[in-house]
Amino acid sequence: MDLYHRSSWCAQILEETNVHKTNQNMEKGMNFFWHHLFVVFVFATLLSGKSTIEVVTTLPDLREIAKEIGGEKVSVFSIAKGYQDPHYVDAKPSYIIKLRKADLFIQVGLDLEVGWVQTLLEGARNKKILWGGDGYVNASKGVTLLQVPNIDPTKLRAEGDIHIYGNPHYWLDPENAKIIAENIYIGLVRIAPDDEGYFQENKRQFISRLDQEISKWTLMMEPYGGRKIIAFHNSWPYFENRFGIQIAGFVEPKVGISPSPKHIKSTIDSMKRENIRIIIISPYYSKKIPERIAKEVGGVVVELAPSVEGMIGISNYFDLFDYNLRQLIDAFKKFDDEKSAGSGD
Ligand SMILES: [Zn+2]
Repeated sequence: MDLYHRSSWCAQILEETNVHKTNQNMEKGMNFFWHHLFVVFVFATLLSGKSTIEVVTTLPDLREIAKEIGGEKVSVFSIAKGYQDPHYVDAKPSYIIKLRKADLFIQVGLDLEVGWVQTLLEGARNKKILWGGDGYVNASKGVTLLQVPNIDPTKLRAEGDIHIYGNPHYWLDPENAKIIAENIYIGLVRIAPDDEGYFQENKRQFISRLDQEISKWTLMMEPYGGRKIIAFHNSWPYFENRFGIQIAGFVEPKVGISPSPKHIKSTIDSMKRENIRIIIISPYYSKKIPERIAKEVGGVVVELAPSVEGMIGISNYFDLFDYNLRQLIDAFKKFDDEKSAGSGD
């Protein structure tokens, strides 16, 4: 063996030894890694495991109320985001995975989610969260519905109406949150009967805080009782009833239908006639037409949050009303100030 070959042979041995050593080290390293991963996994399973109830809701408002009642026993997820139109939500595959693992599914019902929830539930194939299953909660049960039509719902649906069983935006009356909380409580107890006392206490605390806040909100709105406003979409009858304002008309001539030039004109005329200056709108609608109308009448378009997280800073159910009422009151005050300035006071 010449020098060159010897050195290359030596190098080969050395290299192989090193490779071998490296492999051994890598193997050790991998074993260590998998061992630790396994330990972490076992601990995570033991810690979180099935002691956490997986709750999936259609809206963030229901998610927040479920969080209040379920406390640390639940992990909550809302499919729709607060800035999305709840009538139209993209049915993403990741939502199917969430629903497949869910122990409890809570929806608004009344056809609000009809356009998207069925596809997700079918994909999830989780029997226990389907209607009639232990893990199914229809939050509307027991709510006194407004605007229930006495026309065949299928006929209304064919005409493009999307409120065919009555107005589905009932979570916008905080009194209804008590009924929603009760429905969620019943669902949670079905899933975890041993925690009944815990859920009961959480519900008591939530309702007690709601009562305090409702008194505060009612007082805030007292000076503005009977004030007329216009809404873009008919989402606010429960809110209107609770806080004593009057929604005198809608930019949408029928729910889900865009306004015609004729309807825009008649809205402008009635706003002028009745001295209505405020148009309320949810953030997912185009403000183009409402702003045109507002300009014509010397009014303003006020964005209100239809749901938790509908606007920045609204992170829970209480924030929702704090925010919306403040927005409305600011707009009322602005026109009151203008009026008193105009009258020379
Ligand atoms: Zn609606």
